[in-house]
Amino acid sequence: MKVTDGVYAYPWTNMMENNCNTYVLQGQGGLILVDPGLKRHVPALIEQVRKDGLNPDDIGFVMVTHAHPDHLDGAAWFMDRPVKMTMHKDEERFLESTGKEFFRMFGLEQPSYRIDVYTDEGDFSAAGIALKVLLTPGHSPGSVCLYWPEKETLITGDVVFCGSIGRTDFPGGSSPTLKKSIEAIAQLDAAYLLPGHNEIIEGKAEIKNNFDFIKRAFFSYL
Ligand SMILES: [Zn+2]
Repeated sequence: MKVTDGVYAYPWTNMMENNCNTYVLQGQGGLILVDPGLKRHVPALIEQVRKDGLNPDDIGFVMVTHAHPDHLDGAAWFMDRPVKMTMHKDEERFLESTGKEFFRMFGLEQPSYRIDVYTDEGDFSAAGIALKVLLTPGHSPGSVCLYWPEKETLITGDVVFCGSIGRTDFPGGSSPTLKKSIEAIAQLDAAYLLPGHNEIIEGKAEIKNNFDFIKRAFFSYL
């Protein structure tokens, strides 16, 4: 579904299964797919992308906000395809240390993945799209948010949601760190907030209200 020019959302609405929202960004040089979700759902996801008038063969980059299985598992589907996969170095470190055990907690084997490009903090240009990467640990050690200033679009992974925040009780999680990360992304000028789960938020006032609510409801516990 189109959110705004160049920004497409594939929200996961089936509450019976844990899978993440996927986003597709369209630039002059192709498409970026963010958070492929579970591998078994990728073919249906690709169909939805096609129905939106986009060519899935134009996906040149698969970016993961963090390496939790419900976000990363589907990267395996792209292994033999000519896409570049990105992750933050700190997340790779996490995946190589506690990752295997973590995947087992979810009843999954660690999927095959590769990292072609690290998403360091700062500017990241791909497919003709100038993104800013923010390292936002707390839910996961190398979790990143992706901000596209031109479209006032912020992809938050599992840092914040509509009316909620990411869990910090998983391995590598930290409440005080999550708080700092939320404070940092609340400063950004965003008209579209695209979280890793549940509804997206449209409108600057709505996004500000959401951050204000989160600060009131959760910050004293973090
Ligand atoms: Zn997660």
